[in-house]
Amino acid sequence: MTVPAVDAMPVDETHDPALRSWVASANGHSDFPIQNLPLGIFSVAEDTPRPGVAIGDAILDLAGCADANILPPPFAEICRAPTLNALMALAPADRRRLRAWLSRMLSDAQVGAGAGLASMLHDAAACTMHLPARIGDYTDFYVGIHHANNVGRQFRPDNPLLPNYKYVPIGYHGRASSIRPSGEPLVRPRGQQRVGDAAAPVFGPTERLDYELELAVWIGEGNRLGEPIAIDDAARHIAGLSLFNDWSARDLQAWEYQPLGPFLAKNFHSSVSPWVVTMEALAPFRVAQPPRPEGDPAPLPYLLDPADQARGALAITLEVSIVTAAMRAAGAAPFRLSRGPATNMYWTIAQMVAHHASNGCNLNPGDLLGTGTISAPTRDGFGSLLEISGGGRTPVQLDNGETRSFVEDGDEIVMRAVASAGDYIPIGFGECRAVVTSAPSAIREGSSASP
Ligand code: CA
Repeated sequence: MTVPAVDAMPVDETHDPALRSWVASANGHSDFPIQNLPLGIFSVAEDTPRPGVAIGDAILDLAGCADANILPPPFAEICRAPTLNALMALAPADRRRLRAWLSRMLSDAQVGAGAGLASMLHDAAACTMHLPARIGDYTDFYVGIHHANNVGRQFRPDNPLLPNYKYVPIGYHGRASSIRPSGEPLVRPRGQQRVGDAAAPVFGPTERLDYELELAVWIGEGNRLGEPIAIDDAARHIAGLSLFNDWSARDLQAWEYQPLGPFLAKNFHSSVSPWVVTMEALAPFRVAQPPRPEGDPAPLPYLLDPADQARGALAITLEVSIVTAAMRAAGAAPFRLSRGPATNMYWTIAQMVAHHASNGCNLNPGDLLGTGTISAPTRDGFGSLLEISGGGRTPVQLDNGETRSFVEDGDEIVMRAVASAGDYIPIGFGECRAVVTSAPSAIREGSSASP
């Protein structure tokens, strides 16, 4: 009997809570202790972007390791690339081998010193992060069932959850060209909106700009066109996760979304956190998919795998904060808008992948799947302002007296997430942040164009 794909990334010595790094800032680091080792693309000054590993407050230069001939094959060649696509495409066994090598190099001071690793560390604060991969395709799902209920109730009061929801991991094809790394400002989009019961729409800046708290699922090894991915094999095709803010213009969305779904309300800018937390790193944080409510249908057989149901969900807590222009000027701490667990997903990430490829659609390394907004059942865990403010009827009150129904110019939205379980050292995702502006000149020239 073959090992289910979800179990091909077992907990091993790289997750040992006792493991410490000679990179001192890694020990006790809230995001990047040695148990994490996330992959990203970074650059220093004017140098070319290259793969790196976050360790504490530093970044280990993997291209530098390749040039110094200390990386074992086949990693040297793919670590000189300006994107992680080839690294993501590695088979899980190879990805584990790379992780084991990094873990040993960064934990054993003698081995690390012998390899001259200290000279390949950069202060993360002095580096620029880029998109981790060349994203060929981006698909956004809708697996946060409380979000689907909350939004459905606003758009269709009599019929919030359509009958297909509990059978189909609902999704749509999004736009890859406008996905940007964390930190890049976003320009308030303009578009058609119908105000109230007006007979005709108007065209102008969105007045209902919103964020959506999601996880980004990075596709690893792809599949050939016409060859579906089986549910018990789907975990093998996932390289890792990042945080994802699927910026949305609710007024544009309400007017345009029928009959074909989201279009210009969603494709103007999406922010992704630059560090890819690998599925190998997340092994200790795989948990059972919560049982479906009484009376819900079981997934169809092509989406049902006992191992995925037993270990296919994720013990990740996600949160969103806001820093308004006034808060920034006053030096105030970010105001937390919500916090909730990723187990509020009605479908697992493996089910998303298996469903996506079930018709033979080919996925490629570096493709990005958004989970859809992950909301908890209660307001303190809602993953969008549309939900928190009840469509603008109940604005959220910030500590400084400001209120928000939707995102305003100068606001910065900051997303964070931590995976934690039992005695394992928690690992974080870093930040996904972006400030909203109405000035197109705020976009940095040439930043993060597809490498
Ligand atoms: Ca979305």
